[in-house]
Amino acid sequence: MKVTILGNNSALPAFGRHPTSQVVSVYGALIMLDCGEGTQVQMQRYGLRWRNLEHIFISHLHGDHYFGLPGLINSMSLLGRTAPLNVYAPARLNDMLNMIFEVADTELCFPYNFHPLPEGTAKLVENDMFSVTCFPVNHRIQCHGFLVERKTRGRKLLPANAKEYEIPAEFYENLKMGEDYLRPDGMLVKNEWVTDEGPSPKKYAYCADTVFTDSFLDVIQGADTLYHECTYLHQEVDKAEKRFHSTAAQAAQLAKMANAKQLLLGHFSSKYRDLEPFREEALAIFPNVQVTIEGTAYEI
Ligand SMILES: [Zn+2]
Ligand SMILES: [Zn+2]
Repeated sequence: MKVTILGNNSALPAFGRHPTSQVVSVYGALIMLDCGEGTQVQMQRYGLRWRNLEHIFISHLHGDHYFGLPGLINSMSLLGRTAPLNVYAPARLNDMLNMIFEVADTELCFPYNFHPLPEGTAKLVENDMFSVTCFPVNHRIQCHGFLVERKTRGRKLLPANAKEYEIPAEFYENLKMGEDYLRPDGMLVKNEWVTDEGPSPKKYAYCADTVFTDSFLDVIQGADTLYHECTYLHQEVDKAEKRFHSTAAQAAQLAKMANAKQLLLGHFSSKYRDLEPFREEALAIFPNVQVTIEGTAYEI
């Protein structure tokens, strides 16, 4: 499971950095978190395929988090997409998107499903590979973070070993569930001879735009990777609070409180060219910090 950063800047593009967007990959499925301007270009640049993208989540309706969405959807249609697309966002985004498609007389050639975000915490998607939960954060307008959880898929089959013990293919699913196999000749084949440990559950918490708060700490507790915005360095903490944003020190503080294993920093103000001070500030509080770089895929 990994997350590829497509945009790591705040409101304005600056110093080659783009507004917010990132794509989480779980067992080959792609999940997009926010879709700032330029996202489809960034996807092309970094080789992410739209075909595997079926779920897009928009945290809030500040433009740096969704201005890329109409263009992305339009391109998917022009390229003849047939797979359904699910967009989860504040309700009013649907009005805007529908108006854009209506004035251009655009008819999408694939099933497009819009899911308005509820006010509180709720599980939005759940399948056998992953689940996505939204949780309210504290920003100037209604805003949600998202928790992406990877599920285990049982044990991993070692096909060569299973063949060697002459186990019929119909029994492979039972092997993945951890069962032993009793052969017709009476030999008991131990599960660990023919399988390996499967992928472990993982938890990725994306905290979107927020002022420093512990109000959603229970949801993100124990995250393998926590992404937190840090629009400013801590010397600008007053400005951060006034604008409902956070500092690198506050992001690190929350990662520590949540017992996260790794902290990813992003949503940098366009006033900063050099991002090294963000890393230093956070590292003084929390030991495993990455100042995100666009195009980089971080293991969760
Ligand atoms: Zn923003
Ligand atoms: Zn915002």
